[in-house]
Amino acid sequence: MTSLFEEETTLFADLILPVPIPSLFTYRVSRDITELIKVGARVIVQFGQKRVITAVVAKLHSNPPVKYQAKYILELLDEQPIITTRQLELFSWVAEYYLCNIGEVMNVALPAGLKITSQSRIQLNPEFEYEELLTDLERVILDEIKKHQTLSYEEVERLLGKSNITSIIKSLVGKRAVILYEEVKEKYKPKVVKKVKLNNSFLTNDSLVQLTSSLDKTPKQQEILLKYLSYVPVYNNPDLNQKGLDKSIFSQDNNISDAALQTLIKKGVFEQFEIFVSRFDDIPLHKAAEISLSESQQTASRQIYDLFSEKEVVLLHGITGSGKTEVYIEIIKKVLENGSQVLFLLPEIALTTQIVVRLRKVFGDTMGIYHSKFSDNERVEVWKGILDGKFQFVVGVRSAIFLPFDNLGLIIVDEEHETSYKQHEPAPRYNARDMAVIMAYMHKGKALLGSATPSLESYYHARTGRYGLVEMTQRFGNAAMPTFELIDTKKEKKQKQMKNEFSSVLRQHLEYNLKNKEQTILFQNRRGYSPYLQCEECSWISECANCDVSLTYHMKAGELRCHYCGHKEEVPRTCPNCGSTKVKTMGYGTEKIEDELLLMFPEARVQRMDLDTTRAKNAYQQIIQEFEEGGIDILVGTQMVSKGLDFDNVSMVGIFDADRIIHFPEFRASERAFQMLTQVSGRAGRRPEKPGRVLIQTANPGQPLLEKIVNNDYIGMYEAEISEREQFHYPPFTRLIKITVKHLDEAVSRRAAGILAEKLTANLGKSRVLGPQPPLVERVRNQFLFDILIKLEREKINFKAAKSFIQEKVIDILTDKTLKSIHIVIDVDCV
Ligand code: ADP
Ligand code: ZN
Ligand code: ZN
Repeated sequence: MTSLFEEETTLFADLILPVPIPSLFTYRVSRDITELIKVGARVIVQFGQKRVITAVVAKLHSNPPVKYQAKYILELLDEQPIITTRQLELFSWVAEYYLCNIGEVMNVALPAGLKITSQSRIQLNPEFEYEELLTDLERVILDEIKKHQTLSYEEVERLLGKSNITSIIKSLVGKRAVILYEEVKEKYKPKVVKKVKLNNSFLTNDSLVQLTSSLDKTPKQQEILLKYLSYVPVYNNPDLNQKGLDKSIFSQDNNISDAALQTLIKKGVFEQFEIFVSRFDDIPLHKAAEISLSESQQTASRQIYDLFSEKEVVLLHGITGSGKTEVYIEIIKKVLENGSQVLFLLPEIALTTQIVVRLRKVFGDTMGIYHSKFSDNERVEVWKGILDGKFQFVVGVRSAIFLPFDNLGLIIVDEEHETSYKQHEPAPRYNARDMAVIMAYMHKGKALLGSATPSLESYYHARTGRYGLVEMTQRFGNAAMPTFELIDTKKEKKQKQMKNEFSSVLRQHLEYNLKNKEQTILFQNRRGYSPYLQCEECSWISECANCDVSLTYHMKAGELRCHYCGHKEEVPRTCPNCGSTKVKTMGYGTEKIEDELLLMFPEARVQRMDLDTTRAKNAYQQIIQEFEEGGIDILVGTQMVSKGLDFDNVSMVGIFDADRIIHFPEFRASERAFQMLTQVSGRAGRRPEKPGRVLIQTANPGQPLLEKIVNNDYIGMYEAEISEREQFHYPPFTRLIKITVKHLDEAVSRRAAGILAEKLTANLGKSRVLGPQPPLVERVRNQFLFDILIKLEREKINFKAAKSFIQEKVIDILTDKTLKSIHIVIDVDCV
């Protein structure tokens, strides 16, 4: 109790708002929630004139803000925090490290289902009396509103079968016939199951017998009772009645009358009730047969475990097919036994398939799955499941790093070299692999990074002792590594042996595989039919109107598409420049390969797997399954076909256009090419009984990188690359920050980038600041881009200080009145 003489202190809350502002906002806590409000809880507040938004409490205190009058919190949503203090720490860390606002971090971290939307609802104005003012349509709407009390926009649209009703509603508001108000609504809805159970008075055998015979004259009702008893044998065990029976069991049975069931409920024989259930119970659960680890797997997991006693991070470098998954499982089990939480990160695309099925067989429904293709509701369930202890173990994509763990013992990052761990848009531009390492320190847990082709960064840290290193050099079951064959396309072209994109050698092998019912994967890392159209007469090339890039021809869709901005247009029948009819497709993508395969091998079952064929929710999974079951002979795809897939019957992998991948103009090209080509090759011959073969088509079979790929010589590639990186000051010896300046006017963009680069150079020195220069694609969505690349030496430079200096200079440009509507993106540790 507060004494009469003591002044009552008001509570204030510093909130994280989901908007791009750099600081927290202070709101006033009303007395009725003072006792309830906690750090980490969600609240609803008004922000600006009209917006009602969800915010999260970061701090509670009693200091009123000095610069503004604090508004009241409108509503408290959670009595228990939904964000842990560990997470709040992490959010601040991310905002500071990746130079963005904490609200942006929260926005990416929270699943949409935990955010609140405010929705306009339409309500009748009780004082309205001028119906004669209304048009016919307005009167119809008004009648609907009268019937339903209030309606949302969408409901009005649905009722009228019309869209774009905004102007009519506006007119109704203008005539004061209706009032609009904001309704705040939580998106997450628990899944509810309707059940029935017997009234407790029928639980003794006597009363049950009596009840049954009393229904002799109403056989429909009796049948329902008997059906209930067959599922829930209460005469054996009255306790079973508590759980009841799903009502759907009756409704699915055509012989059962719904009316009869209603009567029984009315008579009080059955009681209805509802329960909340998990959406994940639908995924089938088969317990796995015990697997015993091979000797090399045992050794690897023992080494990892031992290394964890001295290192926070261990890198598991195991060749494709070495059986890393079972090693992970072994380690996960141990950590879970110790009572800590485990997070297992996978690249986006790999998550929908085989590995998750395998993990679920071992860990059952104690394992949560967090994937962006899951619904909002499902993601909220994982979030809440972690908070209330249901899920100790979660498998997820990069954003799972933001889940509310408070005691992470282990984070595994599988395929740690994958660039999909890095988020590009929007901010925070975080890398989940790097965050995993940071979080291991925060939680005093461990991080295990795994790959057959580690990133140079991680391997460097392992080599220099910062991380522990464990190597697995044999495939499981002693399956051999595939044999490689390099096909000289230049030579074949001279001898006129190429048939479009297919060398004679590749054609022969395809034929052989088809005859022997063995499966093939063909890899071409470019989707669409052809990357551009060209006129033979005047050399005109199809280009995007908004970007400086050619339009890709998509044959099936019959259109030209920009892969940067999504712009689409019809395919011109004649050259738009000179009118010639000689407009030809140039280059080739997966669609063309598929097309040619069907012409060459009409009886082959060919399937394409790329972004275009896998947009639907389960499309990717279906293709994988069909391929697994042998329903596809040849799978043609982009790098999607390489991600962690494990098939029994693939004896050949064919690679087109390795040269384009190797010679991509980027300093990481060699590393990337090695990773990509090794990974896709690794899909071949994964079983001892069926050795694999990889055919690589290249115009230059003698190039050193190909030799390393053929010999599975990761170390050789590493050593060659790392010395170049050191010499030219690239990661891991430096950290890179890329600044991209964008503007609709090229001159303004160039000038802004120039001024910024100058300011940065003045302090950081010429050797650390590269550019400004236009990127590979200079114009995207009509914005002209200029990149500035900053290289900061790892050991020499105070990274934090350098970053805040950079941020300061960027703000200078953004607030420069002569450079209006400039847009600047800062990407820390760009990849
Ligand atoms: P990686 O991820 O290292 O490429 P996987 O974990 O996919 O390799 O394992 C390769 C194959 O070997 C898989 O089909 C897997 O089921 C099988 N395998 C691995 N370890 C065992 C084991 N101990 N017992 C039986 N099969 C195993
Ligand atoms: Zn032309
Ligand atoms: Zn475009």
